[in-house]
Parts: sequence; C-alpha cells; structure tokens
Amino acid sequence: MLRSLLIRMSESKGLEHLVTSTGPTRRMAQRFVPGASLEDALVGAREVNRTGHLVSLDLLGENVVDGDGARRAAAAYMEVFDRIAEEKLDANVSLKLTQLGLDLDANLCEQLLTEIVDRAGSFQNFVRVDMEGSPYTQRTIDMVKRVRVKGGSVGTVMQAYLYRTEQDVRDLIAAACRIRLCKGAYKEPPEIAYPKKSDVDDNYIKLMKILLPSGLYHGIATHDPHMIAATRQFAAEQGIGADQFEFQMLYGIRTDLQQMLVKEGYRVRVYIPFGADWFPYFMRRLAERPANLMFFVRSLISRS
Ligand SMILES: Cc1cc2nc3c(=O)[nH]c(=O)nc-3n(C[C@H](O)[C@H](O)[C@H](O)COP(=O)(O)OP(=O)(O)OC[C@H]3O[C@@H](n4cnc5c(N)ncnc54)[C@H](O)[C@@H]3O)c2cc1C
Repeated sequence: MLRSLLIRMSESKGLEHLVTSTGPTRRMAQRFVPGASLEDALVGAREVNRTGHLVSLDLLGENVVDGDGARRAAAAYMEVFDRIAEEKLDANVSLKLTQLGLDLDANLCEQLLTEIVDRAGSFQNFVRVDMEGSPYTQRTIDMVKRVRVKGGSVGTVMQAYLYRTEQDVRDLIAAACRIRLCKGAYKEPPEIAYPKKSDVDDNYIKLMKILLPSGLYHGIATHDPHMIAATRQFAAEQGIGADQFEFQMLYGIRTDLQQMLVKEGYRVRVYIPFGADWFPYFMRRLAERPANLMFFVRSLISRS
C-alpha cells in the first residue's frame, strides 16, 4: 500500500514543489541524483569509471509538454554523447520515450530517437530506452524494433512484474535486441502484473535464464542479492563468461555490492541520473525501500 501511495505521490505537482524547494530533501536526493547539470553527471561518471564501473547517463524528465521540450531533450542527449566521446568515458545513455514526446507526436519521437541513435552509432556507442508504465510497453517495443531495423544501436528494458514479459523477451531476442532486465518500478494492476514480490522474483530468475544463453549482451539490473546470486550461479553452470553480460545498479544504491562484483571480475554498469526534474525518479526510489522514506520524513520534520 505504501509503495502504491508513493508512486501516486510521484505524480503530484504540489508535492513536487514542496520537496524540490526544500534544502534538506534536495540534499537527500543527491544520494540518488548527483546534480542538475551535465557537468555534475560527468563528475559522477568519471568517479564511477575510475573505480572500474561502467556508466549509463540519464537526463531526468518525463512527459514533455510540447515538441520544443522533446527537441531540447534530444539536443541534450546529443551533447551527452559528444561529451562522453571527448572525455573518453566508458558510458552509454538511457532515455525515456515520453521525454522525446511519445505522448504528443509519435512520429517526432521516432525521428528524434533515430537521430540520437545515429549519433550514438557514430561513436560506436549505445542507447538504452527505459521502460515506463504499461500504457507505453507496446509502443516502446515497437519503436525500438523499428529503429533497430534501420541499423540502430539501441536496446530496451523488460520488467519482470508484467505477465506479458516472457513473450516480449522471446520476441526481442528474435529481433537481436539487447535487453536490460529489471523488476519494474511503476504501479500496475493485478490484471497485468504479479502483485506478489515472490512471483516477480521467480519470474525475474526465469527471464534471466532465457536472456543469458541467447548470445546477446544483456544487462541484469537489480540490487537484490538473491537475483545476483542466481545469475552468477546460472552463468557458471552454463559456462557463460563474466564478459558476456553485465550487472546494472542505480547510482547511490548498494555501492558495497557494486564494488564487490567489480572486484570479483564482473562488469557493473551504474545508472547515473541527472537534471532538474528529479522528483518522480526520487519518489520511485523511496517507494522501493521504506528505510529511505523514514530518512526522508525525518529531513522534512527537521526542516519545519
Ligand atoms: C540500472 C537500472 C535501471 C532501471 N531501469 C528501469 C526501467 O527502465 N523501468 C522500470 O520500471 N524500472 C527500472 N529500474 C527499477 C527496477 O524496476 C526496480 O524498481 C529497482 O531496481 C528495485 O528492484 P531490485 O531489483 O533492486 O529489488 P528489490 O527487491 O526492490 O530490492 C532488493 C534490495 O535492493 C536494495 N534496494 C532496492 N531499491 C533500493 C532503494 N531505492 N534504496 C536503497 N536500497 C534499495 C535493498 O537492499 C533491497 O532489499 C531500473 C533499475 C536499475 C538498477
């Protein structure tokens, strides 16, 4: 219930104003979001690379309100690829299609995605299209497939909480599409998603076992030690090398685990979000872990 409430609150503009204008909560958000500017993100990326981790940079922002907003987001991503190349960072990019105007004009969104993917390709780099709530699942898969067919270096994300995901994973593998597997961060109804965490976890492991032997390079995105242990065990049993897939985790979460895996020779990519629109992302991170919420409430109380 708490998780659902927090996810609903992530859509409240009033709360967004209260939280983003408050010093202590802004500072708390910095645990998950290193800063508002690309420069802040690059500082974070350099540091994360220095400790042997790979990076994915994500300019925060969802559901732009007009075409200009979508074009601005696309231009910002072009700059991100230029800076990654200039600074020789080991980093790629994650983005959301609603940030490129999917809800406003699907043709514009696809054109902008194609331009970004082309720019990534010119640097032999890669674009990961994040997966948003279920109203976007099919449209995201379809657009990623179309851009891939044009030769684009682009992959997407599959969410283990959706019943449909096994079929989607099989279809995307058939299309040679690289996948990031995650549990899923949005509020979905029981008609389309497993309500019980244990069922999501079981499905996650089932999907991981379909992905790893596929011969494609996939991302196993989780902080859950059980998912990580199951992946390591399965890879060892199947003779799948540590360079044939990567673990992925979020900036500021379980850095101990991130470092341990790197020390043991695994590839670990850290997802670094940046930008002024950090509120929905921050609220989804609170929803994932009650201990974060207590910390957050204490910082709001100490402010008043
Ligand atoms: C790289 C990456 C990209 C992602 N991209 C997407 C996406 O495109 N679409 C989407 O729907 N979801 C995405 N997610 C979020 C994902 O769906 C989950 O909501 C999130 O990862 C929590 O699930 P978990 O696998 O870590 O396991 P959980 O069972 O939620 O957590 C396992 C353990 O991890 C730690 N942990 C997890 N979350 C937190 C937190 N917020 N703060 C502190 N500790 C925590 C705790 O120790 C917890 O016990 C992404 C996650 C990652 C890591």
